[in-house]
Amino acid sequence: MSFGSVQGPQIDVFLPVLQTVICVADLITATLLFVQYSIQSHRAILVLASGYVCSGVFAFLQTLAFPGAYAPTGLFGNADHAAWFFVLWQTTFPSAIIVYALWKDKRDSSAGLNIGMAVACVVAAIIVLSLLVTTGVEYLPTLYTGGITVQTPAAKFVNILMLLIGITALAILFSRWRSILDLWLIVTLIAWMPNFIVAAMLTTVRFSVGWYMARGYALVASCTVLTVLLTETTFLYARLVDSVVLLRRERANRLMSLDAATSAMAHELKQPLMAISASGEAALLWSQKSPVDLERVRKCITAMLSGAYRADEFISGVRELFKKRKEHRTAIQFDDVAREAIDLMRPGLQANGIFIETEFKDHLPAIYADRVQLQQVILNLIRNAIEAMNATHGARRLRLATRYDGRSAVILSVEDTGRGMTAADVERAFVPFFTTKSGGMGLGLAICQAIIEGHAGILRIAKADAAGCVFEMEMPVANDTPRDEVKVGVAGDDVRSLA
Ligand code: ADP
Repeated sequence: MSFGSVQGPQIDVFLPVLQTVICVADLITATLLFVQYSIQSHRAILVLASGYVCSGVFAFLQTLAFPGAYAPTGLFGNADHAAWFFVLWQTTFPSAIIVYALWKDKRDSSAGLNIGMAVACVVAAIIVLSLLVTTGVEYLPTLYTGGITVQTPAAKFVNILMLLIGITALAILFSRWRSILDLWLIVTLIAWMPNFIVAAMLTTVRFSVGWYMARGYALVASCTVLTVLLTETTFLYARLVDSVVLLRRERANRLMSLDAATSAMAHELKQPLMAISASGEAALLWSQKSPVDLERVRKCITAMLSGAYRADEFISGVRELFKKRKEHRTAIQFDDVAREAIDLMRPGLQANGIFIETEFKDHLPAIYADRVQLQQVILNLIRNAIEAMNATHGARRLRLATRYDGRSAVILSVEDTGRGMTAADVERAFVPFFTTKSGGMGLGLAICQAIIEGHAGILRIAKADAAGCVFEMEMPVANDTPRDEVKVGVAGDDVRSLA
């Protein structure tokens, strides 16, 4: 006698508990598969879901009829009824898997209707089959003699039939295996095998060691696909949450960029607009004087016009920046642009008592750049320098110089004697929104860097200490025929002027 045939203790609660769990697991699996069918419309899934419904219901009916489970002689019928429900359970499920494997490529159109029809058919089939094995049991072969422990030869035959159906299902599924679900159904069928084998090989079946083990495997088989489906669903939800978070972050970033762009424009437009309004107010005052000081009014209007032109040029420059147009790039002299920027800033520099020093080398190689954009950068550097020098009480000197590196670049340096920067501030100076000023936006340097890098140049902080800062703009030359005459200019009209 084999170890599997050894009769174990008759634990009556074992079967009802285990098979109720199997029933619940199968019905949940069926529900999940019906949901999947409603999304994918694969007819094979519908058949599989129907197979799980049959499996769950027949497992439960078998438990109800099983002597010693819910009642000493079963809630209805006798040992043979329970045995035939077992047969239905063990044949409908692998049969459904066979149909599933054969119908894998078929798709349906109206999923909702098909689910309804499938459930109705399954319920009808369950009712008919249940009636057959209960009211018509006397027409079926007897499977047990001597209570619930000894099988008849007919039972042996039925067991071998069940084993063959299981093996056929396994073979067909294995030959058509394509998806993860197929893989786990194969695992399920393999876990079901001990159930068939134990039933087919052992004469004394119930409550033997083999019987208990086989039922344990049946539980594993029943929960396999359920576990996979639940795990897949959880992963899908996790991925969905990730996608939603990413989507939100991207939206926030886009809003940030928009915010940054509008802030940058506001930042750059504020200066000329303030200059226009200040000059307008001054013009109004001078025009109210008697006699009217026409010369001053004219100067104010000229300043207003120049502010308006600067604003207009800036707007055009920004549009080009966004369009990444390069038509306005021409070969220009770096010092020319620097001189223009100084001219534009002269009133502000004079008002703040700042001494301007220039050292522009003559005949430097031209650079290839957008004049307006380059001017914006120099203006921003000068504006920062003025603010830095306003924060100290020492000498106020702004020095602009150009030089040629002898190979491929022309460098403009903007040096001030302002409050300087700490090493930590230098690290973050070009990071958007980094500012140490109460009314600052921290966008100036970031935009400047974007513009210079857009020209294949470099904007860097060459020196930053308590004595002040040196910013350097390095631009690639447009041609390579430099002449290196130096013209040092501490021009009289560049020198300190009125407050
Ligand atoms: P904002 O001027 O609006 O603060 P910027 O991008 O122009 O923005 O500058 C960022 C920060 O870099 C400033 O807040 C300041 O702390 C520092 N900075 C820039 N230029 C100078 C300078 N010439 N001297 C000292 N600090 C400077």
